[in-house]
Amino acid sequence: MTSLASKQPAASAQAQAPKRVTLRQAKATCPYCGVGCVLDVRSEEDRLVQITADPKTAPNFGMLCPKGALLFKSDAPERRLTSPMMREHKDAPLREVSWKEVLGYIGQRLNGILQARGPDAIAFYGSGQLDTEASYLFTKLFKGYLRTNQMDTNSRLCMSSAVAGYVKAFGSDGPPTCYDDIESADTFIILGANMTANHPVLFNRVRRRRATQDQSRIIVIDPRRSKTAEFADLHLPVKPGGDVALLLLAMRRLLQLGEIDRAYIDAHTEGFGELSDLLKACDPVELYEAAGIDATQIEAFVQMLCGDRRLLSFYCMGANQSTSGVEKNTAIINLHLMLGEVGKVGAGPFSLTGQPNAMGGREVGYLCHQLPGYRKVTEESHRGEVERLWGIPPGSIRPTPGRSAVPMFQAAADGEIDALWIACTNPAVSMPNVSVSQAGLRRAGLVIVQDCFVDTETAQYADVLLPAATWGEKSGTMTNSERLVTRSRAVKDAPGKAVPDWQIVAAVGRAMGFEGFGYTAAEQVWDEFRQTTAGTHCDLSGMTNQRLDLGGIHWPCPNEDHPGTARRYGDGAFPTPSGKARFHAAAPSLPDELPDQAYPLAVMTGRVAAQWHTRARTGNVPELVKQAPEPFIEVNPHDASHIGLSEGQWAYAVGRRGKSLARVRVTDGVPRGSVFLPFHWGDRFHSETSANFVTNDAIDPVSLQPELKFAAVRLEPAPAPLLEGDQR
Ligand code: SF4
Repeated sequence: MTSLASKQPAASAQAQAPKRVTLRQAKATCPYCGVGCVLDVRSEEDRLVQITADPKTAPNFGMLCPKGALLFKSDAPERRLTSPMMREHKDAPLREVSWKEVLGYIGQRLNGILQARGPDAIAFYGSGQLDTEASYLFTKLFKGYLRTNQMDTNSRLCMSSAVAGYVKAFGSDGPPTCYDDIESADTFIILGANMTANHPVLFNRVRRRRATQDQSRIIVIDPRRSKTAEFADLHLPVKPGGDVALLLLAMRRLLQLGEIDRAYIDAHTEGFGELSDLLKACDPVELYEAAGIDATQIEAFVQMLCGDRRLLSFYCMGANQSTSGVEKNTAIINLHLMLGEVGKVGAGPFSLTGQPNAMGGREVGYLCHQLPGYRKVTEESHRGEVERLWGIPPGSIRPTPGRSAVPMFQAAADGEIDALWIACTNPAVSMPNVSVSQAGLRRAGLVIVQDCFVDTETAQYADVLLPAATWGEKSGTMTNSERLVTRSRAVKDAPGKAVPDWQIVAAVGRAMGFEGFGYTAAEQVWDEFRQTTAGTHCDLSGMTNQRLDLGGIHWPCPNEDHPGTARRYGDGAFPTPSGKARFHAAAPSLPDELPDQAYPLAVMTGRVAAQWHTRARTGNVPELVKQAPEPFIEVNPHDASHIGLSEGQWAYAVGRRGKSLARVRVTDGVPRGSVFLPFHWGDRFHSETSANFVTNDAIDPVSLQPELKFAAVRLEPAPAPLLEGDQR
């Protein structure tokens, strides 16, 4: 194992020894999307050389998308951060230092801030790309030892509305379904998810099912005619923000037709009366107006839901990234409960995760209100259990949730946070209303950035840079969208002084004088973590290291002989006080800001197939850059003509918080009055191209997830930018 101790300067003499040619091979989980494909990775002399997939290994059974297949070209040695770096003040240049020096400096600065301003002046912002071992140790260090709940991650931007939706309806987070349900489903609803771009391997399975089963149908609910919509039997181009209205119209009609599963509702649910009252009381004219869909389209939709069918619904950012994200999730789950389409083979409401380990992060409790095992900081008994497991004094864990992602960066901008530690993500590009996050990064007195690349947009704000091993260089564990836990093994050594993320966290814990961070292997961290989940809703305690090395396992897996649980709630029993699933009646609500005369267009942000997140890794791969070389904005021909824009021209999307530069694509794939703007391109591409200069940082009141999918803008012609730098 590569250890931090072996990366100290004293070890450099050993590096002079003649190097042996090494060929290594191992399985590793893809570091991109939540499908969680397991890859066979080969390296030669510390270079990744080949990625393949084994047809017998779940969940991808030999399939790969171009992003995964080209991973061996993504590590960009010239961009790697290979040594700790630091500077004592913002105007000084960063200089390379030893691990010993940087750990001493971090310990001294954090202790100083703790004493001077208290724990709430220290914050952590992490990522669903971190493996479970690192995520768990960050949670332990911050919540247990630094005694601050000021930690959140980009899962807040991605999944928190889905978490809240599941908890409200079922009493626990976690999808009830699994990928194998695809091969048994008849009807697919895909809402707010462009699966061809963002979950391509999974969508291949959906397409295969559609092609081989005559009765199967694909319904896509999306304002855009996305690539996924082009495969649909029925595309419902809902008005942006109109999903709840559309689903209420469908449920209302199903109720009128008597096409509901009364026996399931009576036996396994509660609250249907309130939903039924809401459906009867709703004004259909208002609902049609809000949904932007006509009665014929609703009738076609409802007909596909009638009769004997197995309904599997996939949904993602289009449902979650909204000020009514929890309502949207709730509406999807209501539909499933009403039809009795939960807990059956081939059926269920299935929230897709955008990142490879967003699920694992939820399991370790890295959001500001959570603790390991889906526990909450607000529950005294939960805090007590975790304090006992960690061997820390009662009362160590504080009972109040910290700030979620958006308020965290606002607090940094307001001077309320002194130390901000960021790991494995790029908030200087990815946060909504990104100017605020950039201001927070500028203002915080100590910005620690832990990453594998030296030049991310966020690294430019760092006072301390910590070099992390990257994919292929570390062993660790991740949980994909279907609760499948998989183990990755390293196939090459990390360059220079870079080490796995968990080792960095443990080393800081030790440098600060904390006991409980004396791990010498990732497997020890895993063993400790899995024990914290025993008896909880996400029980992984039966997943030993040895078992994970043999293949993935679905949780719950409560003992070492347990095979894992692919599907949940098959017995109709839910972890709520009554044991029943809960309907929630919620009327539709409008987005936080609406178009007006000054800003007449609704901008929807999203992703493209060839890029991932902020391109820190996919931007290194020439084939992927060629497919998606520059930011673009899709504009309906009517709007383009009205504004005087033509195909290929550059334009600013100008919003209430800033403006974003992109090349115009004229297409009737976006409806009149809306534009589509991918968010991948940040300052490394060009200083004006971040889509998040215009996005809205208003948040859902329950999930605290920001409304990245809806803001009001106008378009203005712009001169072609001078492009330089990251143009591989
Ligand atoms: Fe990776 Fe997702 Fe592609 Fe699979 S589908 S190879 S997990 S990016």
